[in-house]
Amino acid sequence: SKSREIKENLEKELKNRNIDDVEVVLTGCFGFCEKGPIVKVVPANNFYIEVKPEDAKDIIEIDIIDNKKVERILYKDPVSQKAVTDYKKMNFYQKQERRVLKNCGAIDPENIDDFLKNDGYKASKKAISEMTREFVIKNIIDSGLRGRGGGGFPTGIKWEIASKNHAEQKYIVCNADEGDPGAFMDRSILEGDPHSVIEGMMIAGYAIGATKGLVYIRAEYPLAIERLEKAIESARERGYLGKNLFGTDFEFDIEIKFGAGAFVCGEETALIHSMEGKRGEPTSKPPYPAEKGFWDMPTVVNNVETLVNVPRIILNGVEWFREVGTEKSPGTKVFALSGKINNVGLVEVPMGISLREIIFEIGEGIKDNKKFKAVQTGGPSGGCLNEEDLDTPIDFDSLASKGAIMGSGGMVVMDEDDCMVSVAKFFLEFTLDESCGKCTPCRIGNTRLYEILDRITKGKGKLEDLALLKELSECIKATSLCGLGQTSANPVLSTLNKFYNEYIDHVVEKR
Ligand code: SF4
Repeated sequence: SKSREIKENLEKELKNRNIDDVEVVLTGCFGFCEKGPIVKVVPANNFYIEVKPEDAKDIIEIDIIDNKKVERILYKDPVSQKAVTDYKKMNFYQKQERRVLKNCGAIDPENIDDFLKNDGYKASKKAISEMTREFVIKNIIDSGLRGRGGGGFPTGIKWEIASKNHAEQKYIVCNADEGDPGAFMDRSILEGDPHSVIEGMMIAGYAIGATKGLVYIRAEYPLAIERLEKAIESARERGYLGKNLFGTDFEFDIEIKFGAGAFVCGEETALIHSMEGKRGEPTSKPPYPAEKGFWDMPTVVNNVETLVNVPRIILNGVEWFREVGTEKSPGTKVFALSGKINNVGLVEVPMGISLREIIFEIGEGIKDNKKFKAVQTGGPSGGCLNEEDLDTPIDFDSLASKGAIMGSGGMVVMDEDDCMVSVAKFFLEFTLDESCGKCTPCRIGNTRLYEILDRITKGKGKLEDLALLKELSECIKATSLCGLGQTSANPVLSTLNKFYNEYIDHVVEKR
C-alpha cells in the first residue's frame, strides 16, 4: 500500500510551505474500498479518491493554499485525480445512512479527544448518571434494536433476562469473532471507532448489572486489536473505565480475549467455551447465556454493530432510531458489499431498502456490464436470491421469507458467468470445514451433501440426486444442534429453489 507514502508526502508538502496548523490524520474506513486510497480535507470536505503519493502536492496546493479554512486532512490507507466536492452526492454514499459508521473516516481512532469532541462518552454519562437500569433497558426494548450478528434477537429482551438473574458476577461479551469470508463490518468499526464499542459495552454492563466486559476478537485482526487496546488504555487513564464512573458507584472494565479463527466460535455458547479455555463447541440451549453463561454466570453476548447502536439510541432517543428502517426491523444495517459489483465496499443502509437499490445504485451495477445473476446474503450459510427477488426489502423477516438470511452482513454479488451449483458447493465446503463435528446431522449430513454436489459438478450426478439433496438438506436444517448446522444447507436449498434449471443442466447434459 502507498498509504504511508501518501501521508509522508502530505506532511512534507506542508512542512515545505511552513504550514504547521494542519494535521494529517490516519483515520478509519470510509467504506469506499473500490476507490481507495481516500483523502478528505476538513472542513472544506473535499474528498479525493484513488490517491497516489504524487498527488500530495496538488492536494496541498488546491486545498491548503486556496482554502485557508483547512484544519486537518483525514485519510485512509490507500487519493487522486480530482476532488469530489460533495461526496455525499456520489452514488455510493447518496442512499446510505451512516449512523453506526458516523465516526469511521471522520475521527482519529487513536485519539480519545477526537472521540470526545464527537459526543464521545456522552451517552454513557447520560445512562449511568441520569437513568435507572430499568429505564435504559426499556429504551433499548422500545427502540426495537435487534442483534446485528445474524440472529436478530431483540437486544433489550436479552438484557432484561440477564438483569433479572441475580448473581455475584455478570458479564457483557462483545462478539468480534467475524468469521464470514468477505465480511469486514466489525473489523472496520473496531479500527475506525473503538471507543463507541467500549461505550456500548459500558451501557450494557450498567443495564444488566455487569462490572466486567470481555471482547472476543479473532487474532487475525491485528490493527483492530491494537486500536482497541489503545482505546481501552486511554479510557482507563481518563476515568471512562474503572471505578466510580461519572461520579456514581458503578464500575466497569474490559478485557480482550483472542479467538483462533474458528467460524463456529461466533456461536455464543461455543464462544463462551473458547473464552473459558475449553474446546469451542456449542451446547444446546436452554440454558441461555443470559441465564448461565461465562463461568456459569449471567452473560450477555452482543455483536460489535449491535453495541455501537446502543450509545446512539441513548443519546438521540428511541424516536430517532426508529425514524429509519421498518416497523419490525428499525434502524440501519452495515453490509460488506463484494463480488462482481462495480463499487465494492462497506455500506450502511436503512433497513427496508431494496436489494436493487444496494446493488444497482450504491454498488453501481455489475462489473464489466455483465448480467446480474444472484446475490448471496448472510455469509456462507446464507441463501442465494435471484433477479425476481431484487425488490425484496432488506430486513430480517423479508429475507427469511425468501429463503435467505440477514446474517451478520455479508453480501456477495454474482454475474451470468457464475455456476450456481458450484457456488452452493463452495459455500458448503466452507461450513463443512468449520463444523465442530459434535452432532451427527451436521458432521455426517454435510459430508454426504458435499459428496453429492461434488459428483454433480463433475458430471457424474443423476436426476435422483436432486431429490436427495433437498431431503438431506431439510433434515440437516431441522436436526442440527447449533446455528451453523441449522443454516449450512441454505445455499443448497436456495439454489435448488431459485436455480433448479442449472442443476437439471448438470445432470441431464452429462448423462
Ligand atoms: Fe458442531 Fe455443526 Fe453440530 Fe453446530 S451443528 S454443534 S457446528 S456439528
